[in-house]
Amino acid sequence: MVFGGSPEGARPHLVGALWLMASSQSLAALVAELATAHDLELLQGAADLHRYSRDSYDYSPILQPRLAPCRADLVVRPLTFSGVERLAAACGRHGVPLTLRGSGTGNYGQSVPLEGGVVMLCGALREVEHLDPSSGVVTVQPGCLMRDLDQHLRAHGRQLRLLPSTWRSASIGGFVAGGSGGIGSIRWGFLRDPGHLLGAEVVTVEQEPRRLQLDAPEAEALNHAYGTNGILTRLQLATAPAVDWHQISIDVDTWGAAVALLQRCCRAAVALHLATLLERSVLECLPPWSGPESDRHRLLFLVAPDGVSTLARLAAASGAALHDLGPEDLDGGKGLRELSWNHTTLHMRSADVGWTYLQMMLPEPELPAMEQLKQRWGKALLWHLEGVRQQGVARLAALPLVRWTGAEPLHALMTDCRELGAVLFNPHVITVEDGGLGVVDGDQVAAKQRFDPDGLLNPGKLRGWLESISSPGCPGLPHPSRD
Ligand SMILES: Cc1cc2nc3c(=O)[nH]c(=O)nc-3n(C[C@H](O)[C@H](O)[C@H](O)COP(=O)(O)OP(=O)(O)OC[C@H]3O[C@@H](n4cnc5c(N)ncnc54)[C@H](O)[C@@H]3O)c2cc1C
Repeated sequence: MVFGGSPEGARPHLVGALWLMASSQSLAALVAELATAHDLELLQGAADLHRYSRDSYDYSPILQPRLAPCRADLVVRPLTFSGVERLAAACGRHGVPLTLRGSGTGNYGQSVPLEGGVVMLCGALREVEHLDPSSGVVTVQPGCLMRDLDQHLRAHGRQLRLLPSTWRSASIGGFVAGGSGGIGSIRWGFLRDPGHLLGAEVVTVEQEPRRLQLDAPEAEALNHAYGTNGILTRLQLATAPAVDWHQISIDVDTWGAAVALLQRCCRAAVALHLATLLERSVLECLPPWSGPESDRHRLLFLVAPDGVSTLARLAAASGAALHDLGPEDLDGGKGLRELSWNHTTLHMRSADVGWTYLQMMLPEPELPAMEQLKQRWGKALLWHLEGVRQQGVARLAALPLVRWTGAEPLHALMTDCRELGAVLFNPHVITVEDGGLGVVDGDQVAAKQRFDPDGLLNPGKLRGWLESISSPGCPGLPHPSRD
């Protein structure tokens, strides 16, 4: 598909050559209008169009062939807030799709322009604007790298609560719009839990864009919406007191004992920032910085200094071998963080691109379900677990490595997981809903109606919006043509 639309608003359903012609005319008009703007940088070279039209979707052999042909027609980097508004106005006037991009590390093609048009780079808007010394609430622009934001916070005795394992390269805007959790989820749950995102500023995509201040309940609709329902230009986020995390790894002989120890540690009265468990066949393929070579299953912990002795006691009681790796070095890039969450998948794929992965919340009790799946799938399924807090309760999430042998076996595995009671977050799909709980969030669709009435932002990624267009009478969903 290519982009298109009418300046009047509702997008006509043109097809074939007529559609292509309308698109290229709109694009030419848009480029002519923006070319002399001093607050926008326009990139039109083939290398830039290629580079900024892809993200880390190649972890999915299903998404890879589907998304590889997608190309932006133009890449634009606004240098100021008024540049963002100018670009939004031009896209609104000419009916050109607009896909927002942070650092492009998403795994579901979140920043891939399915219908071409403009990709907007957010990286120039990267200031940490304010840190409230009494509450720790930070106001930050979306293009700020999470590493830089965390460094800024640490200089003031605070730290980010939640970080993806890509925290060194990912932007905070991309994390809020495209991420879900990660390092810190053992204590702080997931990004969409109330209390993380406390407010936002949004620019609408219209002929005359508005810049609006949203409180926490309103901002929630833009949280994990893949940039489909408003351009985030400022974020207010809660932070946590800084801790100098200590790195511990523990080797355990049997899988059952390793899972039991993980659970004991997660439920102990110690402050944890990360609790990961890797099956021995996964550990074998990872870089060596989590402890001495081992042929056992390995637990990885980031623990507050006063919790080290407790982990040592719990490990000793299980007859497990503990490695004290010392205080975390945040500058190195070779910490336990970089072996956790989807970095485990990254390292496995570096060793062998035949691996892909799944994401799920395991059913309780976890061990019998994992054993059944292992019995059926053998070495084609390798376990990687993360301790998390879901709605206040300690749970185990899994990001198992899966040997790719085709779409059919992958779907059969997903069916097996669901039948055993796992809740899957499918990383092989492109819409917000299908990668999450599968249900349409009416607030996200309503926000799109409010902030992107012509449906130009990241088209094709919000299923609820697509359904509201195709079934105008659908109860509970706003219709694009209605106020
Ligand atoms: C190795 C690896 C490990 C990962 N680990 C994790 C993990 O632990 N946890 C996790 O949640 N994710 C993880 N991810 C996915 C991804 O890295 C993170 O979600 C990251 O925070 C995305 O940030 P980004 O700047 O790269 O965003 P992008 O990929 O550039 O964008 C993500 C989404 O945000 C939207 N967006 C960007 N800027 C704006 C804006 N200003 N306004 C509105 N929408 C906007 C984009 O349109 C897109 O839909 C991992 C990915 C890889 C490759």
